[in-house]
Amino acid sequence: MSVLIFIDQAEGHIKKASLEAMSYGAKVAAQLGTTAEGIVLGSVTEDLAALGKYGVKKIHHVNNPALDHFDAQIFTHAIAEGVKATGADVVIFSNNVDGKAIAPRLSAQLKAGLVSGAVALPDTSNGFVVKKNVFSGKAFANIAITTPVKIIALNPNSYKVETAEGSAEVAALNVNVEAPKVKVTAVNKVTGEIPLSEAEIVVSGGRGLKGPENWGFITDLAHVLGAATACSRPVADAHWRPHHEHVGQTGLAIAPNLYIAVGISGAIQHLAGVNRSKVIVVINKDPEAPFFKAADYGIVGDAFEVMPKIIEAAKKV
Ligand code: FAD
Repeated sequence: MSVLIFIDQAEGHIKKASLEAMSYGAKVAAQLGTTAEGIVLGSVTEDLAALGKYGVKKIHHVNNPALDHFDAQIFTHAIAEGVKATGADVVIFSNNVDGKAIAPRLSAQLKAGLVSGAVALPDTSNGFVVKKNVFSGKAFANIAITTPVKIIALNPNSYKVETAEGSAEVAALNVNVEAPKVKVTAVNKVTGEIPLSEAEIVVSGGRGLKGPENWGFITDLAHVLGAATACSRPVADAHWRPHHEHVGQTGLAIAPNLYIAVGISGAIQHLAGVNRSKVIVVINKDPEAPFFKAADYGIVGDAFEVMPKIIEAAKKV
């Protein structure tokens, strides 16, 4: 058996979610009595050999500029070729935006069983069984993958990054890169923002903030804490905030170390996207708001009175 991890990068930098995927993949490989290898697509600015500290022994680098921009179809094809070239039996992705786009396509292309949203190491004592969240995080399912090639997409922030001494062998891999079927004509970058999916701390606002003119409470606290900002779905639907900030069942699922929810009721569809956060703080004027049941810390109070005090206190820390 051999394990291949897709190491995701943006503008040459390896994403945090990939560090988790490498640590996880190295553990899976150890369980199977084999070594973990990684595959990187496109140009990178980082020292790939240094990724050995996350447990990967060899990095296959497809250094082709045609892969500098993410394209799910082309990436899937390149990784499928990588799987064949390396003879990998287990392929690991982060279940981030890129992983969600590639893993199902790869599964169809290789006729390989896929568990997306894995939250724990596979149980290999009797087959290959992977645990994942189901019913919007209300339950777990243990799913056996029985195909020769097995694919796991690991939920971000569900496996701790582990490091040890070591460097990886880096080898160039040439694969057939398909011609793109779509062309990127412009990229509008949001500058200065911490990407929500990678953030350790998230400050999030709901309809309780009454309107976009009051979002300074959220952005100011986020700025002081070095946090990303998020919102509930009605807030994005009302165009108070951009849609990429919407978290929940139909938005982004996140798992930061700290999630601060301000004026959000805590509907099940919202919780589905945030209930894997390590610590949840809820600020709501209604003591019966459902979010308090999921909270580690709660403040019953009017956000318009509470938030200025919290921001001031945070500035002093
Ligand atoms: P509200 O429900 O209006 O709650 C506002 C809260 O603010 C209340 O609890 C109130 O007590 C509090 N409040 C009011 N004033 C103040 C104040 N001055 N200070 C402090 N607190 C105050 N929602 C999501 O968020 N994400 C999703 O992905 C999502 N997907 C959905 C999918 C489906 C199929 C469906 C049907 C719904 C989905 N929803 C989703 C909507 C979800 O059901 C809720 O309607 C939504 O989360 C409520 O948003 P909210 O808490 O901001 O607003």
